[in-house]
Amino acid sequence: MHFRRLKLSGFKSFVEPSELRIEPGLTGVVGPNGCGKSNLLEAIRWVMGENSPKSLRSGGMEDVIFAGTAQRPQRDFAEVVLDATTDSGDELEVVRRIERGAGSAYRINGRDVRAKDVSLTFADAATGAHSPALVSQGKIAQVIAAKPTERRMMLEEAAGIAGLHVRRRDAESK
Ligand code: ATP
Ligand code: MG
Repeated sequence: MHFRRLKLSGFKSFVEPSELRIEPGLTGVVGPNGCGKSNLLEAIRWVMGENSPKSLRSGGMEDVIFAGTAQRPQRDFAEVVLDATTDSGDELEVVRRIERGAGSAYRINGRDVRAKDVSLTFADAATGAHSPALVSQGKIAQVIAAKPTERRMMLEEAAGIAGLHVRRRDAESK
């Protein structure tokens, strides 16, 4: 899967609508401290279905919404759009939006879907929200210090079989 474009609005420090083109190959994000590099990576993980506020450095999920500054009022919603091309050539537009007091809503190619549908879409493509394809700050140290079971999960995600486990757990709980 190739991520082609990322659009953010009201997500963390990206208060104004912002759009980034992602070229094929390895992408690095550089800039001064506090300019929003980690926020960008978190926006990608968030639109892919990340549901742990802690791993987004937030107390609660609504904390991803622009909180306001002395000069600017806070926003009522955050929205991230990820355009991707799957390995089979299909175009994918994934949207996640959160409104204060209303939780998250997801769309894939204009259709309302569940969080689980989004997670599965990416888990099957080996690019899940916890995918080793996204290397965030501290991640390398984490891989080195991981317990064997945690390291196995990382390898399974890299191998693209994480989606199978999600489906198995789902089937077992029915
Ligand atoms: P470093 O080089 O130190 O790792 P960075 O480029 O990764 O920095 P980020 O951590 O992405 O920077 O961005 C931090 C900035 O984002 C801080 O100024 C913080 O106040 C701002 N920020 C985070 N969440 C919100 C929010 N909900 N509303 C407004 N600003 C936010
Ligand atoms: Mg950072």
